[in-house]
Amino acid sequence: MPNPKQKTAVPASRQATRDGANAKPRPRPRRPARTAYTRAEIAEIFRRFSVQRPEPKGELEHVNSFTLLVAVVLSAQATDAGVNKATRALFAVADTPQKMLALGEEEVGRHIRTIGLWRNKAKNVIALSQALIDRFGGEVPGDRDALVTLPGVGRKTANVVLNMSFGQPTMAVDTHIFRIGNRLKLAPGKTPEEVEATLVRIIPDEYMRHAHHWLILHGRYVCKARKPDCPACVIADICKAAEKTTDIPAPLVPIVPEEAAQ
Ligand code: SF4
Repeated sequence: MPNPKQKTAVPASRQATRDGANAKPRPRPRRPARTAYTRAEIAEIFRRFSVQRPEPKGELEHVNSFTLLVAVVLSAQATDAGVNKATRALFAVADTPQKMLALGEEEVGRHIRTIGLWRNKAKNVIALSQALIDRFGGEVPGDRDALVTLPGVGRKTANVVLNMSFGQPTMAVDTHIFRIGNRLKLAPGKTPEEVEATLVRIIPDEYMRHAHHWLILHGRYVCKARKPDCPACVIADICKAAEKTTDIPAPLVPIVPEEAAQ
């Protein structure tokens, strides 16, 4: 009868290497940040979000992909509500790059004067319109590399447009998603890019289309920055945040649109 212990015995030479006696120090590869959740837990989190908000919408008003792009550019360091107030009248007269150019920087500036950094943003909107006409036939390109070459457009803006206008499974990490990724240990990361990479890797394909909006709305209305509203949270039993105040999940019922858009 073979001794089962012999099967796993490690030769002395290899043991020495394993223990480091003969081993050369090797640089450790940087591990990608790990989620604290199992696959089943992640699927359950997003299943509940999908029941709660079956058709989540972004809160930036727009009428086509061009006006969405402009609205996202204007929303940097501004609230969606503040941007919507300004863009309603702007988009009524300029919903294409051609019309925006015809309006001119001064008039665009007049419309968006209530938004922070409006001078610079008006400049970018005009330069953006010109670039779309010169390089993309007046159309918004459905490609991240092309989008980020446009004035005022960074990776986050490109991801929002690709997700909302082109249905691509991108993850635009804003302040809410960055906080949730780290607070819940769902996608820990020091930069938005790290959080984005982990979320894109772990979220099941069938939930990627809406995951961006679910996380933003969850962060804006429930898992708030200053004080998370855990009793109102449908994933309280799964959440692994140190700050959570209850393990009892809120009833899983669809949120009526008026409430979602408050
Ligand atoms: S339980 Fe609390 S901390 Fe966890 S996700 Fe819900 S609101 Fe955020």
